[in-house]
Amino acid sequence: MTGRIDIVSIFPGYLAPLELSLVGKARQDGLLDVTVHDLRDWTSDRHRTVDDTPFGGGAGMVMRPDVWGHALDEVLGEQDTPAGQSLLIPTPAGERFTQAMAEELALQVCAGGQLAIACGRYEGIDARVAEHYAEQEHVTVREVSIGDYVLNGGEVAALVITEAVARLLPGVIGNPQSLVEESHGSAGLLEYPVYTKPPSWRGLEVPEVLRSGDHGRIGTWRRSRAVERTARRRPDLLVRHAPPQVRLAKGVD
Ligand code: SAM
Repeated sequence: MTGRIDIVSIFPGYLAPLELSLVGKARQDGLLDVTVHDLRDWTSDRHRTVDDTPFGGGAGMVMRPDVWGHALDEVLGEQDTPAGQSLLIPTPAGERFTQAMAEELALQVCAGGQLAIACGRYEGIDARVAEHYAEQEHVTVREVSIGDYVLNGGEVAALVITEAVARLLPGVIGNPQSLVEESHGSAGLLEYPVYTKPPSWRGLEVPEVLRSGDHGRIGTWRRSRAVERTARRRPDLLVRHAPPQVRLAKGVD
């Protein structure tokens, strides 16, 4: 059973890359059902208005809750699934999108659930939209940030989330072993450096151990490079996956 991903945006063309590469192929092969909707289809005025001025004043425009309400009632109303529905609202003010969250969402899609992604623009979506759908029994609302920077709209975040989730679904990646030792996996490490042919390039050599054929040594080398790389680039990850007493000492928990 495969679930579905619905993306609502005022720029549906922005989501065209989802027709390409592995996600595009997964859709063609029926491994993943993705539908992109135009939010303006749920407007009722001649100008197809989706925004208005902010209460309290200030710069910019805010997306209207009534238009989003019509759209999301329909998009979320199409599905009645025991695997549930997640409404993802991209925002730089949200919880950080992580590999762990991608895994959770992939499990939901795999079990036949639905992800709906509401792409904001301007100053964002009226806060009552998240509040309203959070009160719906069958819907889990998650306001999600893809990083500590501000984009113009939620479409890039929707692409990021969809790709990160889709590649975890069975059959999407040709060799599932590729997913096992990746960065941000259960070991909490960044991946070790990788090399291919030629063995010598511009005076730089592939480490001898990787050409030795000794899989024990290769495994040990890779693990130590992964730890060393993580310590240098992302020491926070080592702390987060450390035993509880270390985390407590570092004040992480
Ligand atoms: N005024 C908002 C703030 O300061 O939090 C920023 C609004 S931003 C210009 C417009 C839209 O881009 C947001 O509603 C959201 O959909 C999207 N967006 C921008 N940065 C994002 C990020 N880091 N993660 C996820 N979505 C983001």
